Amino acid sequence: MSKQKDLHPAVKEFMSQSPVKMYIGGQWLGSADKSTFQTLDPGGGSPLATVAQGKTDDIDKAVAAARDAFRTSGWASMPVNDRAVLLHRLADLVDKHCDELAQLESLDVGKPLACAKTIDIPNVAQTLRWYADFAVHTRLREPIPVSGHEARQVRFPYGVAALVLPWNFPMLLVGWNLSPALAAGNTAVIKPAEDTPLSTLYFCKLVQEAGIPAGVVNVVPGYGETAGKALSEHPRINRMGFTGSPEVGRLIASACGKNLVPVKLELGGKGAAVVFDDVDVDNVAQQLVAAVSFNTGQVCCTATRWMLHEKIWDKFVPAAKEKMQAIRIGHGFASDTEMGPAVSEKQQQRILGYLEKGQAQGADAILPGGKAEVKEYPQGFYVKPTLLTGDPDNICCEEEIFGPVAYLIKFKDEDEVVELVNRSNYGLANSVWTDDLERANRVAEAMVAGNSWINAHNVFPHGVPYAGVNLSGFGGGVLGPDTYFDYLRPQSIVRPTA
Ligand code: NAD
Repeated sequence: MSKQKDLHPAVKEFMSQSPVKMYIGGQWLGSADKSTFQTLDPGGGSPLATVAQGKTDDIDKAVAAARDAFRTSGWASMPVNDRAVLLHRLADLVDKHCDELAQLESLDVGKPLACAKTIDIPNVAQTLRWYADFAVHTRLREPIPVSGHEARQVRFPYGVAALVLPWNFPMLLVGWNLSPALAAGNTAVIKPAEDTPLSTLYFCKLVQEAGIPAGVVNVVPGYGETAGKALSEHPRINRMGFTGSPEVGRLIASACGKNLVPVKLELGGKGAAVVFDDVDVDNVAQQLVAAVSFNTGQVCCTATRWMLHEKIWDKFVPAAKEKMQAIRIGHGFASDTEMGPAVSEKQQQRILGYLEKGQAQGADAILPGGKAEVKEYPQGFYVKPTLLTGDPDNICCEEEIFGPVAYLIKFKDEDEVVELVNRSNYGLANSVWTDDLERANRVAEAMVAGNSWINAHNVFPHGVPYAGVNLSGFGGGVLGPDTYFDYLRPQSIVRPTA
């Protein structure tokens, strides 16, 4: 790992534990069978830390701790405003320890440190506060007017929420998934991705310091096939929130189906950006280049299919190519880095594999991608940004690559482009770019997905639900008011009066 001298002393100390322990029932524990795994710095390809590897026994312990805390810690029955005070305290601690969390996030994922510091970590605090405040201002007891009866509906937390999360925004997604579950009074067991467990474990120190009762938040790092599987199949969980690939989403949904546990799936995407001929070409090209290279393209909703009106094609393509070529690729800790490495060698190979397959199927490379070399870090998992074009049924236009790769398609009119957008099996997020707001709104509504953005891409204001359809998931999404209600079970109470 690089730049040891730049590390916050608390980060150094945290990573030097051997192993970094899991957090269960308010205690820091090694795994039951003492096994460990290593997490790598994708920028340098070298080991970062040794981490306790949770398996079935550890998941059992964590679910039992979460269940106990739900029943006995007072968390579930606490007045909502008291719980909100603790969540605000936690949010303040996230802000206070932003530097440490951002360093861990940058090192583990490979993302630019500035990005972790200004986007990922502050977002966690914002989400905690948003749900804490929403909970305080939401009535959980509603009278129901029915003749001959006195009736009301009351909402209670479910119990243990199991959260299985991916590696692209480890901490930010803890915020999106944990905050509504906790604000509603549930307890949680989190299984972070094996590539990026560090920030989530460090966050538990803050959970402890905030005074959140032991067992309310539990984190078991480990592999998907062992720890993730054990958690999703556990008969004592009451809710499941999964963010990840459709392939694993199916496994999680069937495990939850067997136990009749309600499940939320936030899955992949193949976002389109539809650009009409009345835009400022240079500006839109810049914004789409920024979108597809953000987090090295490892963003579920990013703009990967660029649909360009035929009248702007000749101007847009060279502008985009020039901007893609100018992106500075480097280690997340280098201050001038705009795009870090892929998260792992596996992910780097996945991206390169798609480029090969796409070109074998006839895609033309406007800007050929491939492995990128970063002089100081020859072992890092870097890739170059790529622009492809060709038939819309090319594998690179249909499947989620999860890298800085855009597939460009020319269109003539609105009907044609809406049809092209809606060919996808995914349905997470698309954008439309035009000065004609009437057309923008029409196209935004015609594109079948959970999210349509107008003259922007990758926009996530708190309070606006973020969800997907088809291969992109189901179950209500995250970030909206409904997400809070998803973590509450409704109970009707009725007394005949006539
Ligand atoms: P993944 O599906 O491989 O893994 C996600 C999580 O599931 C990890 O914690 C992993 O350990 C666990 N897992 C793996 N196999 C498992 C199994 N058999 N049983 C239980 N758990 C298992 O996804 P990934 O590679 O970590 O993340 C990339 C995917 O996540 C992309 O498809 C991306 O689009 C999607 N994603 C979606 C959103 C969203 O909000 N819709 C956000 C971020 C990422």
